[in-house]
Amino acid sequence: MVLQLYNTLTRKKELFKEIKKGKVTYYFCGPTPYNYVHLGNLRAYIFADLLRRYLKYKGYQVFEVMNFTDVDDKTIKNAKAAKQSLQVYTQKFIDAFIEDFKLLNIELPEKLIKATDHIPEMIDLIKKLEKNGLAYKSEDGSIYFSIKKFKNYGKLALLEKTKLRQNADGRMKNDEYEKEDAKDFALWKAYHKDDGNVFWETKYGKGRPGWHIECSAMSTKYLGDTFDIHGGGVDLIFPHHTNEIAQSEGATNKKFVNYWVHNAHLIVNGEKMSKSKRNFFTLRDLIKKGDDPKAIRYELLSTHYRAQLDFREENLKNLKETLQKFNDFLLMLDDCIEKQKKKKYETNNVVDHLIRDAKEAFENAMDNDLNISEALAAVFTFMHDVNKIKNDLHAFDADKIKTEMQNFDSVLGIMDYERGAIDQKIETKIQERERARKKKDFKKADLIRNELLKQGIILEDTADGARWKKA
Ligand code: AMP
Ligand code: ZN
Repeated sequence: MVLQLYNTLTRKKELFKEIKKGKVTYYFCGPTPYNYVHLGNLRAYIFADLLRRYLKYKGYQVFEVMNFTDVDDKTIKNAKAAKQSLQVYTQKFIDAFIEDFKLLNIELPEKLIKATDHIPEMIDLIKKLEKNGLAYKSEDGSIYFSIKKFKNYGKLALLEKTKLRQNADGRMKNDEYEKEDAKDFALWKAYHKDDGNVFWETKYGKGRPGWHIECSAMSTKYLGDTFDIHGGGVDLIFPHHTNEIAQSEGATNKKFVNYWVHNAHLIVNGEKMSKSKRNFFTLRDLIKKGDDPKAIRYELLSTHYRAQLDFREENLKNLKETLQKFNDFLLMLDDCIEKQKKKKYETNNVVDHLIRDAKEAFENAMDNDLNISEALAAVFTFMHDVNKIKNDLHAFDADKIKTEMQNFDSVLGIMDYERGAIDQKIETKIQERERARKKKDFKKADLIRNELLKQGIILEDTADGARWKKA
């Protein structure tokens, strides 16, 4: 089956066809590092991750670029208030963002880049726009993009130009009188004293880039004039992505992006989570309260990306139990691999069928614009069916099933099957405890049990010796 993705550009699900066979060029708008990102932002990056992981599952070689908007009004203002350089101030939040990625098991993009490292590329792009007659200089020295000169302006957001101008008239009268047209946007902002020591000396004078030019310049630098997929939250459709298209296509006269993908918002109490509404919390806030990052990942992941996600912290506890089901299942398989390997092997068609059906159901669901709930249902059905025949499983089959679970998890990123490294340490401790028990040193045995418990390992004494699982 071929992957179908909902393309915002056409408002339709479309078969995905890459530009270069087997390769996907992919850009996802990154955060503005003026503060810690909130859970709404992280929903966007979980979606970005799910898409890249599924593309990889399908065998594509993914090259993903994500940016940090590390220069804008907010970063400048906050750095100034903190009496830090822009670079030092934003780096702290960039580092925190990468930590959040690791905690949520989000794969890092192939390129994670800062806008401030790409000023020359932005200037080059503005030069091209100027050459094509799409940019003009305002009285204060800023450079604007002229939307009336770009014929397809607003296609992504389904905007009509006249309406746009009317809507923007209010703003025209106030702060944006430098522009010829209310909706023209800044490519380059002339220096203002509020910018303090944040400026670049360029062909266009002293100043700093506009927000939209950053993403146009950075995406095309690494992915080419035309690339496969560009994503972000729905709030970016207009004006950000609309303006990116105008700039990039205005400069190259080529199609900028083939597939535009946008995630719906995460909401709390019926409202979009956002910094300005002060209804936000960060990953740190939740982890401090003892919430489990994998359960948070699961909650962010398990609603379809184009549906609003009503985030409820109280769900996390149940989700943790759901995750435990995956892990118990994997432990059962490990046990079977360990204990049934000497059993004579007879081909088990049932297992092969179950695997084939599960795989097919999972892929059909994910191919349908990443239908995550059906994909998860396929995995649950698989586990349920395997559990029914678990006593007849041979190690060889258990191993096959485990491999399939790992394949599913390469997309989901929610299971704990990599026991190898921790296994060794835990096994050593368990043997030490067994020795203590044999010597009737129950004090020491309990001490070891508690020590393991503190590391989140629960011991169960069975007839075959001690078994462990994660708490
Ligand atoms: P920002 O740093 O505000 O540019 O946002 C970074 C990313 O998070 C963008 O793709 C936004 O569209 C996305 N985003 C912001 N708020 C939410 C939300 N409440 N739910 C989902 N995505 C969001
Ligand atoms: Zn962007």
